[in-house]
Amino acid sequence: MSAHPPHPAYDLIVIGAGVIGCSVAWHAATLGAGRVLLIDRGGIAEGTSSQSSSILRTHYSVRENVELARQSWSVFTRFAEYLGDDEAACGLNRCGYLIVAADGDRGEAVRASLAQQRALGIEAAEVDAAQAREILPLLITDDLAVFGHEPEAGYADAYLTATAFARAARRLGVEIRQGEAVRALTTEGSRITGVRTDVSTYCAATVVCVANVWSNPLLEQATGLPIPLVAERHEVMAFEAPEPYLPHYPVLKDMASASMVYARCYGRNQLLASAGLVGHATDPDERQADVPLDVVAELGEQVAARLRSFETAGVASTWTGLYDVTPDWNPVLGPLPGWDGLRVGFGFSGHGFKLSPAVGRLLAQSALGLPTDVPLAPYRYERFGEGRLLVGRYGKGAVS
Ligand SMILES: Cc1cc2nc3c(=O)[nH]c(=O)nc-3n(C[C@H](O)[C@H](O)[C@H](O)COP(=O)(O)OP(=O)(O)OC[C@H]3O[C@@H](n4cnc5c(N)ncnc54)[C@H](O)[C@@H]3O)c2cc1C
Repeated sequence: MSAHPPHPAYDLIVIGAGVIGCSVAWHAATLGAGRVLLIDRGGIAEGTSSQSSSILRTHYSVRENVELARQSWSVFTRFAEYLGDDEAACGLNRCGYLIVAADGDRGEAVRASLAQQRALGIEAAEVDAAQAREILPLLITDDLAVFGHEPEAGYADAYLTATAFARAARRLGVEIRQGEAVRALTTEGSRITGVRTDVSTYCAATVVCVANVWSNPLLEQATGLPIPLVAERHEVMAFEAPEPYLPHYPVLKDMASASMVYARCYGRNQLLASAGLVGHATDPDERQADVPLDVVAELGEQVAARLRSFETAGVASTWTGLYDVTPDWNPVLGPLPGWDGLRVGFGFSGHGFKLSPAVGRLLAQSALGLPTDVPLAPYRYERFGEGRLLVGRYGKGAVS
């Protein structure tokens, strides 16, 4: 028997069954893509999607991101209906988002972003300290001057979301192959013609590569283009304090803390927290890394300075996850210059989940040669060479 059995032709092959790839595959099927293959070297959402804090907000200083997050939020709030699957769930908790800052540049950036949200029709109010304490009774406000509240926000579950998209895609006829790694993209002249896996070779009219931190070798080898993407380790931890952090308490972003901490309810009473700073560049194949005690202590101190009762909190668990980071912390979406038959989506850093419904639809539209709902031009690869980075008032980093 041949090592490479005969292979069928697909209209579309999607590499990577994370939340982005599953969303691309489902949207492509709904847009009439024809024969679609979604392929992953592991299982559905076993990559960085399973590590996500899964926070949903439209608060960004980059206007394009606000729009994608807004479109995505409208999907998360009617997820089962959108997927046409009564049993589909994304685990949404609409607890809202509270961003706090001291006076100064960060406070002004918060105000500007709130104003931009409002200009786009999003409910995003500046509240005072007393109102903020009503929204989040544990909040210590002494050193704070700016409080932004976005009621239509919260968090969900990236794993549930990805698997729901995958199931709905399968029902529409998408073929899903798990445990099969793509070793290379196949090319003919300046066209990507398919993929070679460790099992077979499949040809396709278009390949969408959404392999997150593992995108570089596939794309660089096939196109010869440098892919400006690094894998960064981020540490996440769950604290448990005498007073619970209740599920209806908002997601908290503390721009006044040294690490720009973000936090939310975890389970029914714990607090998930992490730093909103640059992480440590690392090997994309790192599964889990130790979280050093000094890192736990540093974050714990900042949490305790912001939330009553957390000065005596214990650490319940810690884990690490990988961000796929581009030079401006925003994704590349669309084709790569000089290449036909290829669309890419990488570089989501810490905000790919909240954009995944809209990004999946846009990449599917682009791959099928359809007009995209919003222009992909701001997210094009060429922006790095042109010095037109996609950066807003917050500058480069996790808030974007
Ligand atoms: C700690 C942490 C916290 C986060 N918090 C948030 C948050 O609060 N809100 C938010 O919006 N976003 C957050 N994110 C970001 C968000 O989770 C990611 O942007 C999103 O999950 C990325 O999805 P993906 O499909 O691009 O990647 P992945 O889920 O990593 O999927 C890529 C897939 O490609 C597969 N693959 C790779 N190489 C190959 C190959 N050669 N052949 C076949 N398959 C391959 C992998 O197995 C993997 O399944 C966070 C991320 C982390 C790590």
